[in-house]
Amino acid sequence: MKIAFIGLGNMGGGMAANLVKAGHDVRAFDLSEEALAAAKAAGCTTFTSASEACSSAEAVVSMLPNGGIVKSVYEGDVFGTAPKGAVFLDCSTIDVATAKSVIETATSHGYDMVDAPVSGGIAAANGGTLTFMVGGADEAFARAEPILQAMGKAVIHAGDAGAGQTAKICNNMLLAITMIGTAEAMKMAEKLGLDPQKFYEISSQSSGYNWSLNAYTPLPGVGVESPADNGYAGGFATPLMVKDLRLAMEAAETSDAAVPLGARAAALYEDFLGAGNEALDFSAIIKTYS
Ligand code: NAD
Repeated sequence: MKIAFIGLGNMGGGMAANLVKAGHDVRAFDLSEEALAAAKAAGCTTFTSASEACSSAEAVVSMLPNGGIVKSVYEGDVFGTAPKGAVFLDCSTIDVATAKSVIETATSHGYDMVDAPVSGGIAAANGGTLTFMVGGADEAFARAEPILQAMGKAVIHAGDAGAGQTAKICNNMLLAITMIGTAEAMKMAEKLGLDPQKFYEISSQSSGYNWSLNAYTPLPGVGVESPADNGYAGGFATPLMVKDLRLAMEAAETSDAAVPLGARAAALYEDFLGAGNEALDFSAIIKTYS
């Protein structure tokens, strides 16, 4: 297939390379020369504008920083430029309201479109092992699914337009809460004189079992190997967690959902980011519990 790919940064670069490996003709555009050069080296054809990249594409995939950019790229360069009948897949993490409205406009122009945000970081993008949570009509999902399969290990139809973004921000709000809860419990156990490794062994097999403890243990040298064992480098950077929590708080407000723990987690992560920890993995929040 001829697939236009817009936004070839940390995530998009690896995803586009996996589409090339799957045999697609990938037509890349990014504002960054460096990103375009890397895309070219990975086998993409590069273009100097999004509209040129889209002009004869059967599908458009985007992986962009935020909802404002997604809206302006689709409204300015994709709608009316991509051939009739093309399918659009926005894999960026953006607010639910913008995702719904861009899909609605795409539909009114006669295109199929899904929101398809991802779980998994840069390593999963490079390795083709992302999980996609997808929102959109059945027909749009059916067309998007094989393209997403080439970039991931799981593709789940979450529901109508915006449902992918809803799943993503609710999941990441839960992740923030479990990481903070895990950090608190581990540090309290330590303060009470319990060996953290013993606490890990017990809690990871008891009712405290959770992904943050079992699969991403936030203390160095304890539990499984994780970014904690690498000075909190790599992994899921704190600014990305804060971005997702801001989106979650915005969605909670518009839907009138009660999120007392989500709000507290969001505030703690805002403080952690504000204290100069932008380079650290989100599990480094355990360092605030001295
Ligand atoms: P990034 O900043 O590395 O990449 C974004 C790319 O978009 C950049 O190369 C930038 O030049 C390009 N861009 C910006 N405006 C553009 C425009 N108008 N036209 C064309 N290109 C444009 O970001 P990333 O880490 O790749 O993240 C992309 C998306 O994926 C974000 O929505 C992020 O929240 C989400 N995400 C990231 C991760 C992660 O671990 N990095 C994990 C899950 C989801």
